[in-house]
Parts: sequence; structure tokens; C-alpha cells
Amino acid sequence: MIDRSIAGGEIMRYADANTTSGLFPIDEHVLEGDCILDSENGAGYTMPMSKTNPLNNAIFQDASKARAWLESLLWAGGRACGYCGTLEASSPLKGREGYYQCKACRKQFTVMVGTVFERSHIPLNKWLQAAFIMAASKKGMSAHQMSRMLGITYKSTWFMCHRLREAMKAGNLPPLGGEGMVVEADETYFGELPAHKQPIRSNPKANRPKHGPTFKRAIVTLVERGGQARSFYAETAKVETVAKIVSENVAKETRLHTDTSSVYKNVGKEFAAHEAVNHGQKEYARGDVTTNTIEGFFSIFKRGMKGVYQHCDERHLHRYLAEFGFRYNNRTALGVDDSERTTNMLKGISGKRLTYRRINEREA
Ligand SMILES: [Zn+2]
Repeated sequence: MIDRSIAGGEIMRYADANTTSGLFPIDEHVLEGDCILDSENGAGYTMPMSKTNPLNNAIFQDASKARAWLESLLWAGGRACGYCGTLEASSPLKGREGYYQCKACRKQFTVMVGTVFERSHIPLNKWLQAAFIMAASKKGMSAHQMSRMLGITYKSTWFMCHRLREAMKAGNLPPLGGEGMVVEADETYFGELPAHKQPIRSNPKANRPKHGPTFKRAIVTLVERGGQARSFYAETAKVETVAKIVSENVAKETRLHTDTSSVYKNVGKEFAAHEAVNHGQKEYARGDVTTNTIEGFFSIFKRGMKGVYQHCDERHLHRYLAEFGFRYNNRTALGVDDSERTTNMLKGISGKRLTYRRINEREA
């Protein structure tokens, strides 16, 4: 067992347990010796590898075992051709591990076809390591730090991270809330809008700093109390934009809790109740009426974005929102541990090939 007082830091999370959940196969392969990891402030320290470190698990060390594990996860309902989707109509290719010949479309496929891993040359065990590190780091992990930990170039790591964020995106989801349930809605502002999207000033020569929400990117988040969060990059928090998001994503029987911002006034009438706390009057909770759950979500998101990711291109903001939302929706308080969170992330790698291609266009 590792002495947590010596090592400290976010990374130590890996060292404690996850061995009991049974989601990963029993560890047969234990690394010898020490491993240098980077602490949050950049200074290195030595951490003795523990037998209970989940990253010692064979699926993180051996590409064949990683492949077998991923096949059992994604093909739990039968081996499906990644090209035509035909189930259980393929046979393994002799001498080419992990390759199957589809009897329907005659194409050869692997478990990576049709996933965000498709056409990647990174060994599958490294993919699983990256997924585990992302899943287990509450505020995320920078591509630079991940690159050093995985021993893969920064450029490759950057693309791996973005593909894993695609895996963390949720598909078509039913509305949040319902009868007797509370959904909080709130917006926050993060990072500057690109110059061409900023509003035109009445006096463009005035050299004032660009402060205030009109120059920033707006993020609208909905949180079902005790349940799931959903975030949207809205560009600007206009009344109609916010109203559309709230209306389409919250069940009408719900009690809606917001602050007194005018953007919720009209859309609030669609719900069983709309109650608002007046932040301007320093009112943050009145009975069970509050937006504090969302404030907590925004706080983790902003600390991660400022402390870990630092630069975030506007085009990628929706992916970071997916990442923080995924971890929140698979949080420890809901009984999800690191290995189960990793498994849930990897279940999301299928069926996102189109999005993958869009990222890939910029890879050249
Ligand atoms: Zn096929």
C-alpha cells in the first residue's frame, strides 16, 4: 500500500484500489521498480509502483490483452462488423491477430473500425491508459503531462485526448427532471469570443479592456438535482438561445430553479414551477431553491480549464464541456469508481466515426 502522505497530489488516486470492482480482469503483470511521475507543480517525485495500482493491470501493459478486453466490452452482444454492422457473421483471419473477415460485406475489420480509435497506430493498451488517466483526474490532464506519462509524442497525445472527449459525448438523451424533481439552470462565461464574433463597439477607438459577458463565450448548464448535468456552448447567452436549450432539455413537470436573470423569465412559465434566487441581493438559497449545484459544477470546470488546460480554442470548447460533464455524471458520489468510469467512457467510442473524421482532417 502506498503512503499517500509522501506522494500526495491528484495522481495518487490511481494507487488506491479499484481492484475490487471486477471490471478489469485480474492483474497478472506487475511492474518492477520505481516510476517517476510529475507532480502538479511540475517538479518530479518518485512513486514506488504498487501492486494495487490499476495501471499495472495487464490490459494497460499488453496490446493483445487490451484488444481482447475491448472486444469483450464492445462486442458483448456479439461480434459486429464495423463497416456494415452485421452481427455474428465473421471469422478470424489466420495469422492476423484482431482481424476478422465479414461474410456480409467481405471487408476485413478490427474492433477499432467504426470507433474514435479507427486508423490510429497507437497501441491499444496506451489508449486504455489514456482513458483511465482522463477518467480518474477530476480536473482533467493536460496533453503535455499525459504525453510524458504515456511516452507518446505530444501531437499524438493531443489527438488521443480529443478523440476520448468525443467518446465522452452523450448521444440523444431524454429530458432532465420530471414530476417532483428539481432542475437547476444557470449560465457562466469562459474565455473571450474570437474578435470577429465580438459585438461592435460604439466607439471602436476607445482602448478599454474588453470586460463583461458580451465579449465572452457563454456556457449554459442544466443540472438535475442529485443526477446528471448537461452543458451547452451558446456563444452568447441571448434570451432565445437559452430558452431553447432549457425548453428542449428539461421535462415540463419539473421545478426549475434559476437566478433572477431575465433569460429564464419566459421559458420558466413552461414548467410546473419556476423559482429564482436573487444573487444580486446576495440570496443564494431559499428553502431548497438554489443554483448551488451548478455553481459547484462550474467551479470544477473553471479550475480545470484554467489550471490544467489553460488554452482552449473556441472550436474545442464543446469537447471540454463533454469531458467535465461526463466525469460529473459518472462521479464517485453516484457510486462510480475510476475503473467503472473508464469502462463507461470506452463504451462511448463506437458510432462516432464521422466526428472522428472531422477531427482527423486537421491532423495532417
Ligand atoms: Zn461487414
